[in-house]
Amino acid sequence: MMSYDTDNIFAKILRGEIPSQKVYEDNAVVAFMDVMPQGEGHTLVVPKAPSRNLLDADPATFGALFAVVQKIAVAVKKAFSADGVTIQQFNEPAAGQSVYHLHVHVLPRFEGVPLKP
Ligand code: ADP
Repeated sequence: MMSYDTDNIFAKILRGEIPSQKVYEDNAVVAFMDVMPQGEGHTLVVPKAPSRNLLDADPATFGALFAVVQKIAVAVKKAFSADGVTIQQFNEPAAGQSVYHLHVHVLPRFEGVPLKP
């Protein structure tokens, strides 16, 4: 199992060491806007508990995370008047993960508009 690096960028956001545009927070989960959005309204949902990714997450962390993913998906679809919502989640570099703290991408989608790479 790969280890958790406490200096990853989302750990710093969770500790308040670097700024974020936070849109939701409860005792276990935060959501904030992605700084390099793949599309309008791209939001990240992040558990406060330190997991590297889905592969080492505690099921309780996972449950709390996905309950919020659903809330955020409904909220961003409405807020951005989107036609649909894509949920993305990457685990390890081979799968496209670049920040090593578990997170879920919530992407409002619009008819005929592809995501940016
Ligand atoms: P990828 O970079 O391939 O999308 P991840 O699933 O690890 O892989 O996603 C990390 C996401 O974090 C990226 O969408 C990136 O734009 C975003 N990001 C990086 N730094 C910050 C930051 N300081 N605040 C908000 N989002 C960030």
